[in-house]
Amino acid sequence: MEAYIEEIKDLWDTKMITNNGTKVRRLENALQDFLGVEHVALFSNGHMGLEGVFGSLGLQGEVITTPYTFISTTHAIVRSGLKPVFCDVEPEYMTMDPSKIEALITEQTSAIMPVHVYGNLCDSQAIEAIAHKYDLKVIYDAAHAFGVSCHNGPSVSQMGDVSVFSFHATKAFNTIEGGAVCTNDSKLARRLNLIRNFGIAGKESVVMEGFNGKMNEFQAAMGLCNLIGYEGECRLREALDRTYRQLLETVPGIRLMNRQKSAKGNYSYFPVFVEGGSERRDRLFNHLESNGIHTRKYFYPLTSRVECYKNDYSHAHHPVADKAAESVLALPIYAGLEQDDVIRICQLIEQEVKR
Ligand SMILES: *Cc1c(COP(=O)(O)O)cnc(C)c1O
Repeated sequence: MEAYIEEIKDLWDTKMITNNGTKVRRLENALQDFLGVEHVALFSNGHMGLEGVFGSLGLQGEVITTPYTFISTTHAIVRSGLKPVFCDVEPEYMTMDPSKIEALITEQTSAIMPVHVYGNLCDSQAIEAIAHKYDLKVIYDAAHAFGVSCHNGPSVSQMGDVSVFSFHATKAFNTIEGGAVCTNDSKLARRLNLIRNFGIAGKESVVMEGFNGKMNEFQAAMGLCNLIGYEGECRLREALDRTYRQLLETVPGIRLMNRQKSAKGNYSYFPVFVEGGSERRDRLFNHLESNGIHTRKYFYPLTSRVECYKNDYSHAHHPVADKAAESVLALPIYAGLEQDDVIRICQLIEQEVKR
C-alpha cells in the first residue's frame, strides 16, 4: 500500500491520469524487458486486448480455437464478426491438440487462436508449422501465462504473431483490471496503439474504427508496484503447489496435472481432476464449499456449450475437453494462502473421496 501511494502521488501535480501517460509508458517499457518482446500495448483489460488484435489484423472468416477456456476467448472472436471453429485439446495439458487442427481448416480459415491453459504452454512448434503451411495468423490467448517461459527457450510472448495477457485482479500479475498485447510486428503495434484510442491519429485525424481500450495511470501504477513483487509471489505459490502435490499425489480418484518439464511456470492455478464422473466432482465441490473452501469448476461449462452458443455449436466435437470440463476443480492458490490451509483443504478432499 505504501509503495502504491508513493507511486500515485505525482498524479495530483501533473493531473495526467489517463491517455498514454508516463506510467503507462514506463510499464510498457518494463514489460518489454520482462517479457522479452519488442512491442507491448497496454489495454484496459485482457478482453479488449483480444478484440483489439482482431480489429487491428482485419481478419475475416473462421478462427480455429478451443472451447476449454474462459468465455472471453470465444466472445472476442464472435464480437469481431468471425466464426469460432472448436478444436479439441490434448489430455495432458489441456492445450489445443495440434493433430486435430488440419481437419478443421477450410477456405474461410484465417487464424488459429490457442490458449496456454493454466500457464501450460501450447505446442507452438506444431501449431506454427500448420499456420505457416496454410498462411494463417497465430494469436495466443496468453491470459494465464504471464512470466512463463521455456527452459533455455523463448519467452511465451515470442510465440506466434501476437500474444494477449490479462492483468485482471485474479491473475498472476495484476494492474487491478488490465491487459497487454505483445508482438514483434511494428506495423501491428502501430495499429494496436490506434485502435485502443478510437483510431485517433491526430487532432483532426481518425484513421481506423477504434474503441476506448486505454489503460489509465492508476492501473499502470499498480502494475509498476506489482511487477517488483512478482517473483516473490511466484515463489510463495510454488511452495503451495509443492505441498498440494505431496499431499494429493496418493489420494485415489484425484488426478493431478503434470508439471510441464519444458517450462518455467507461474503456479497461478492448481487444477485437479476428479475421476468417476461429474457427480463425484460436484460432491467434492459442495463438500469443500460447505467447509468454507471456494473452488472453481474452471473450465465448466465449455464455451461451446454455454446458453448463448450451444445452439450454434451443438455439433462441436471435442470429447477430451468435454471430459475434462466434467471432472475439473481448481483449488485455491494465491500468495496469501497459508501452508496450514492447504493441509486442511487436502484433508477435506481425502475425507470426501474416501466416503
Ligand atoms: C482472464 C481471461 C481473459 C480475459 O481477461 P480480462 O482481463 O478479464 O478481460 C481472457 N482469456 C482467458 C483465458 C482468461 O483467463
